[in-house]
Amino acid sequence: MNIILMGPPGAGKGTQARNLVETRGMVQLSTGDMLREAKDSGTEMGKIVAEVMAKGQLVTDEIVIGLIKEKLETVKANGFIFDGFPRTLAQADALGKLLEGEGQTLDAVIEMEVDDAALVQRITARSTCAHCGEVYNDITKPIPADGKCTVCGGTEFKRRADDNEESLKTRLMEYYKKTSPLIGYYYAKGMLTKIDGLADIDTVQGEIAAVLHK
Ligand code: AMP
Repeated sequence: MNIILMGPPGAGKGTQARNLVETRGMVQLSTGDMLREAKDSGTEMGKIVAEVMAKGQLVTDEIVIGLIKEKLETVKANGFIFDGFPRTLAQADALGKLLEGEGQTLDAVIEMEVDDAALVQRITARSTCAHCGEVYNDITKPIPADGKCTVCGGTEFKRRADDNEESLKTRLMEYYKKTSPLIGYYYAKGMLTKIDGLADIDTVQGEIAAVLHK
């Protein structure tokens, strides 16, 4: 089963994708993670995208489609979770063709709805464990007082360079201008389910499970 988790930055796509990886053995394909890896390892492509990402703009369709194409051709999985991809209509069309080429289908698109005020709070308070990627929030889920990650015991935590109010404004604009039209695109194909991304993590998890059982 292949699904897309859609929603603005901070909607909780990464958190829910991690859960599906743990509980169902699906494979998370996050173009944001792939681009950050490229940036950190200093590849040519990483250098090109670093500035665009820091500003909160979208990198080119060509680059992200190339990244997804390579994964679909090389990774065998019991189902993919597309997280942060597609973000434009061109990417959505490309994904459809790539899956078809691999003899696969797209089974569900889940839109996580969250209002903007909550997103600013979530994003500016967000940090992750540098070792396992567990997500923390200064207000709702602070790093434990002993400074150790609850999942892996790691002691190093990082904040994303683009998790600040300035880039977030651009990221939200990019989402509403270029990505939100995909909601209509998938609705018209009968694939879309909307869920309340403001509910607590377990409730959202339950709603996603219900969609997958259908
Ligand atoms: P994310 O981790 O999904 O929030 O992505 C972080 C940043 O990576 C975005 O603000 C974009 O600059 C870039 N990015 C990630 N995925 C895509 C995509 N599918 N299309 C274009 N840019 C992307």
